[in-house]
Amino acid sequence: MNPLLHAAELPDFAAIAPEHAVPAVEEVLAEYQAQVDALVAIEHPTWDSLIAPLEAMDAKLERAFSPVSHLHSVMDSPDWRAAHEIAQDKITEFTAALGQNRALYDAYRKLKSAPEFAHFPRERQAVIEHALRDFELSGVALDEPMRTRFRDIARESTQLETAFEQAVMDATDAWQRPLSETELDGIPDSERAVLAQAARDKQQDGHLLTLQQPAYHAVITYARNRELRAEAYRAYQTRASDQGPHAGQFDNAGRIEKIMALRHEAAQLLGFPNAAAVSLATKMAPNADRVLAFLRDLAAKAKPGAERDLAELRAFAASELGIDELQPWDVAYASEKLRERRYALSDEELKPYFPLDAVMAGLFRIVEEAFGARIVPGAASVWHADVQYCDVLAETGERIAGLFLDPYARAKKRGGAWMDTCRSRFVSSQGSSLPIAYLTCNFAPPTPGKPSLLTHDDVTTLFHEFGHGLHHMLTRIDARDVSGISGVEWDAVELPSQFMENFCWTRAGLDRFARHVDTGAAMPDDLFQRLLATRHFQSGLFLVRQLEFGLFDFLLHLNYAPERGARVLETLAAVREEVAVIRPPEWQRFPMSFGHIFAGGYAAGYYSYLWAEVLSADAFAAFGDGIDASAGRRFLNEVLSVGGSRPALESFVAFRGREPIVEPLLASYGLAA
Ligand SMILES: [Zn+2]
Repeated sequence: MNPLLHAAELPDFAAIAPEHAVPAVEEVLAEYQAQVDALVAIEHPTWDSLIAPLEAMDAKLERAFSPVSHLHSVMDSPDWRAAHEIAQDKITEFTAALGQNRALYDAYRKLKSAPEFAHFPRERQAVIEHALRDFELSGVALDEPMRTRFRDIARESTQLETAFEQAVMDATDAWQRPLSETELDGIPDSERAVLAQAARDKQQDGHLLTLQQPAYHAVITYARNRELRAEAYRAYQTRASDQGPHAGQFDNAGRIEKIMALRHEAAQLLGFPNAAAVSLATKMAPNADRVLAFLRDLAAKAKPGAERDLAELRAFAASELGIDELQPWDVAYASEKLRERRYALSDEELKPYFPLDAVMAGLFRIVEEAFGARIVPGAASVWHADVQYCDVLAETGERIAGLFLDPYARAKKRGGAWMDTCRSRFVSSQGSSLPIAYLTCNFAPPTPGKPSLLTHDDVTTLFHEFGHGLHHMLTRIDARDVSGISGVEWDAVELPSQFMENFCWTRAGLDRFARHVDTGAAMPDDLFQRLLATRHFQSGLFLVRQLEFGLFDFLLHLNYAPERGARVLETLAAVREEVAVIRPPEWQRFPMSFGHIFAGGYAAGYYSYLWAEVLSADAFAAFGDGIDASAGRRFLNEVLSVGGSRPALESFVAFRGREPIVEPLLASYGLAA
């Protein structure tokens, strides 16, 4: 029998092979479709007759596909790649059709208007309300001819966004410049290698400056030749625009106008005043005023710190580098020199304090102290000898979750670190499941006689992903669509992950997991202070740059009016007037390559990066300097365990006793007033 169709609690990884993937997914999708066809015919749908069967089908689909997607990422092979692609396409097509199923939408509506809805537990109400919201945002609730127009807009927007991205890539590829030996002055060997590789990629000898990020970064950060940096900056910052070396050739200005017009029209078809309001429909921030107030409040408080950073940089550039008037193409260069001079801390100094085993044991200890959950070795079928499986036990000793940990880099494994869902938690009349997580990292493997040593970056990444894992594993919600991370507003989903990162920057956190590999000694205080200084280095400049992007994105979508058009450059100029401390030249055209908002998923959502950081810093501040068990239990009960069953703002207020404030973030950046 196909192991992907087993109803067992954990996948039997040792038995799963690529040839199982497509038949399993096909079988589940056929059953799912038959189920949906039967469900929409029910006269008076109830939770048990409509939602419970859908939850059970989603769980079956997850059992069939989650191991496929996971093994494709961590044990890649041509067979897995092919199987994954076919299975993935079938699921995408099925899900898209489900989202456009008007009869299913009507069934949810009947359930919402039934008298018993008012007596449902909060989590069940949330599931139904989220589903209706998502149906409505996909245009399925519209009547003709609006429904067709909405679909046409969606199709045209996708094409325009693809064309936007393509123009950025073409403009990036169009410009290059060979570098002479003297022009390499100041560029370290590791970065020269990047430039040599860029030359080889284009079948050239020597060193080549291109506008690909690593090559551009090498020159703008390290090249001593100021004219060269200025030339690189001009080419890079005018990509796909009406300025610079390829002025007008790949210009995205017209595409942006069309994208903005279509987003605005789509918003109005759905009954929203503008595209910013559509974005907020699935986010924690309650309305546009709140987002603007948040960004502006943070800007006002961060700006003095940014001005101090800039003044320090200017003084350093003038006295040490002979740069009297700091220009935008000098900033990265001067910053790097200042960092090397005053704040440099090498990975090699820190790594002996972070042997993987000690870090994991310390992380588990923090989780136990703060949240009462114990993580203990368990037994499971795994896909590789390096993989460890752990059970997660609640304070009562009850087994509540499971975790597959795959720590080391190896061939055929996708790079980076991530948490992913193996099984989602649900409890219903039609079945149940504990939450099971995959935690995948790419740490340096141990060598004979030497354990795996992590960089501080690695440790922070591990804590970050483990925060996502805790959100998934410590949930106590029974309704599948709002358990764990599911159904959490996406400007709040980084709260637990960024929260956990904070332990990597505090004495209390480090004392639990930083142990010298040879001596077992804790990290000395002077090293800890130098580590903190790297976190604070130019944090004011970083913050105001993020605020500039966030405010620009949000105002652009909020203030769009058909009669005026998008006013991209005017909006950017006004935002810079308000928040920026470094003023780029008039010809700079950064928005023309701002893919996050014009081709990615961040439209009227770029602010979320900072929003989540404010939440996590403020939440962490409740722990004081140590690991406060009562704050931890409150965080567990009010935030981690409730999933998407209620608005994230309500959860935050329940935990903190008030709405979030920005001061703890400023303090964590060393910018407290
Ligand atoms: Zn994350």
